[in-house]
Amino acid sequence: MKPASDTPDWVLAALEERRQRDLMRRTITLDSPQTPHTQIHSQQYTAFCSNDYLGLANHPKLIKAMSDTASVYGVGGGSSHLVCGHLSPHQALEEALADWLGYERVMLFSTGYMANLGVISALADKQRPVVQDKLNHASLIDGALLAQAPLRRYLHSNVASAQKLLAKSSSPGLLVTDGVFSMDGDIAPLAELSQLANQYGWMFMVDDAHGLGCLGESGRGCLSLEGMDAKRLPILVGTFGKAFGTAGAFVATSHDYAEYLTQFARPYVYTTSMSPAIAGATLASLQLIQSAEGQEKREKLARHIAYFRQRVHSLPVELMPSNTAIQPIVIGDSKAAMAISEHLRALGIWCTAIRPPTVPVGSARLRITLSAAHSEEDLVLLCDSLEKVLTVTSLNAT
Ligand SMILES: *Cc1c(COP(=O)(O)O)cnc(C)c1O
Repeated sequence: MKPASDTPDWVLAALEERRQRDLMRRTITLDSPQTPHTQIHSQQYTAFCSNDYLGLANHPKLIKAMSDTASVYGVGGGSSHLVCGHLSPHQALEEALADWLGYERVMLFSTGYMANLGVISALADKQRPVVQDKLNHASLIDGALLAQAPLRRYLHSNVASAQKLLAKSSSPGLLVTDGVFSMDGDIAPLAELSQLANQYGWMFMVDDAHGLGCLGESGRGCLSLEGMDAKRLPILVGTFGKAFGTAGAFVATSHDYAEYLTQFARPYVYTTSMSPAIAGATLASLQLIQSAEGQEKREKLARHIAYFRQRVHSLPVELMPSNTAIQPIVIGDSKAAMAISEHLRALGIWCTAIRPPTVPVGSARLRITLSAAHSEEDLVLLCDSLEKVLTVTSLNAT
C-alpha cells in the first residue's frame, strides 16, 4: 500500500526523474565564510566554484562598512524605495555607481534576477519582442516570459544570426546579451551588437554580472571594452553578488529610462529596498574596486588565469575561449562530470559540477572559477589535481 502522504504523485515523479538522470540538485552548507579555504561537513577544501572573484565577500573593509552603516541606518529598508525605503546609503551608492560608469542614473534592485525581470518586463510586451543570445542567463529569459513578449534566441555570440532575427521582426524591440557569459566565460561581441541594435532601431541591454569589478581599467567591466559607453550601451545591468562580494544589483541608464522604470518595473516598485547596511558595504566594495588594491587584485586574478590555462593546455581536455575568471572544463555526460567532481573532492578541491538545464544537454561541466583570494599554491594544487583526475579518467575511458 502507498504510504500516507500529502505530496502529489507528480511532484514525486518529477523528483524521481531528476534522480534517474543524475540531475538532482542539493544544497550544501559551508561552516565557514565564503573564502577559497572553506569548511564543509567539518572537512577543509580549497573551493573553485564561487563567484567571489576578487575575494571581497569576507573582506574586513566591507565587514566594517556594513556594521558602521548598520549602526547609523539600521539593517532593514522597511519598505519599497518609492514608499519610504530609500535611505541615504542607497542614494550614495546609486550616485557613486553612476559616476563610476558614466551614466545619468542608477537604480538599485534587490537581486540581479529581479533587475532583469524588472527591466525586461517593463520594456518589452506583446508588440515589442525580445531577441537574445542562446546562452543568456535564466533571469533574462524569464524577464521576457514575464513581459509576455515574443522571445527569439540567436546562436551564441553570432551577430549574423541576431541580424536575421531583427530583420524578420515586424516591430522593433529589445536586444539583450550577457556581457561575460556565466557558464562559458567568453565575452559577447558588444560593439557589433550595439551597432546592429542601432541600425534596426532596437533597444540594447547588457547584463554584465561577471565582468563588473573584474575586467578593464578601474574594473568597469564590459564598458572598458573598445568603443563602449553609456550611449552605445544604454541599459547596463550589474550585480553585487559576484565580484562586489555583497548582494543586490543595479541598472545604469539614462534619466528617461530610469524615470520610466520607476513607474513600470514591477519588480522594482513592489519589493522592499535592499538592506541599507548592504548598500553601505557595497559602496565600500566599489571604493575598493576603484582603488590600487582593486587593481592589484585584478592583476593577481589575471596571473591565475594565465597560469591555469597554460597548465590545462597540456591535459586531454578542451579549454573554452575564455580570458575571464570563469574557466569551464566541459565533460559532457552529467554522471561523468559528477564523478570527476567527487574525485577532486577526495583531493581536497571543491568544484560543484554544473549540469543541465543550467547548461545545454550533453555539456555538463566543471565550472572552475578563479579568485584573487586564491594563492599561487592553491592554483598549483588545482592544476596538479586536475592532471591526476583527468588523465586517469581519460585512460579509463579508452
Ligand atoms: C548571477 C547572475 C544573475 C543573477 O544575479 P543575482 O544577484 O544573483 O540574482 C543575473 N545575470 C547573470 C548573467 C548572472 O550570472
